[in-house]
Amino acid sequence: RASTDNLRKAVRDSINMDQLDRHHVLGEGQFGEVWLVSAFITPKYGQQYFALKIQKKDDAMRGDSSAAIKREISILGLLDHPYIVNLVHFYEDLETINILMGLVQGCELFDVIHTENEDGTWHSGIPESDAKFYTMIVADTLDYIHKKQFVYRDVKPENILIDKDGYPIICDFGFAKFVEDKTYTLCGTPNYLSPEVIMNRGHDAASDHWALVAGANPFFYDGIPQMELFQCIVREKFYPLPDELSDECFQVVDGLLVKDPSQRLGSLAGGMNDLISMKWFHELDLDELRQKK
Ligand code: ATP
Repeated sequence: RASTDNLRKAVRDSINMDQLDRHHVLGEGQFGEVWLVSAFITPKYGQQYFALKIQKKDDAMRGDSSAAIKREISILGLLDHPYIVNLVHFYEDLETINILMGLVQGCELFDVIHTENEDGTWHSGIPESDAKFYTMIVADTLDYIHKKQFVYRDVKPENILIDKDGYPIICDFGFAKFVEDKTYTLCGTPNYLSPEVIMNRGHDAASDHWALVAGANPFFYDGIPQMELFQCIVREKFYPLPDELSDECFQVVDGLLVKDPSQRLGSLAGGMNDLISMKWFHELDLDELRQKK
């Protein structure tokens, strides 16, 4: 961590943000673009590459989006975790608000799950063992976020980057908020919304747990009208799962898709321990995974 802090300090002390060389767009979001940028920092650090999230202030949604990115900056500034994207610096000019982040060289989990076959058709799905690995790390990282008193509110594969070593890194804190802030905004991504969010009963840690395994299921056909989608999430009792899944995996999915947030896996007396100690995860060593720190 010390080396990250030192690099952060060197960036802040040594470079003018206008000197960043922009290479290409890494990703586009609703409110702006994320660019691959680089700069010569100091003789010790040499040329370094970063991801720069740029949001125009004259965006049509100006008021809301500016407030959101400022909240994102302040939340990221309070988080320091190996599986969360690293805030290096931020700055504002007349036209834009910018977040300089540690570069995650890899791709979105979404692109790992959905791959194009040679004949142009698409394949969706990953081996259960990979799903277990990503789920355990993301669940443990969400636990860290929740213990810092934030809820993330947009858990989905597009917001989880897979780095060059294959580890998941959570990015995009655009919807994250302080738990105590009781504003019940309907936000997030429709397929991943929990029953309590749709019913306007607030979004807390349990809703982030729901989204770990929500998102796709046989009820959610392409182009489903939003009202029908929401009715499925709130009312349907059972989410059929592929036959080939192990019983241990089924127990985890079933426990996380409990409609009542107070009864959902991760929200009962044992907290996150109830989730992480499920048999499905037994072969993984969480302490070892945390060593990445
Ligand atoms: P959205 O509208 O989905 O909320 P956004 O404008 O908030 O998007 P992000 O989701 O933060 O933007 O980033 C958009 C994309 O840019 C990501 O999905 C990813 O592909 C890429 N990206 C973001 N941060 C990084 C990073 N630190 N390193 C590499 N790529 C990144």
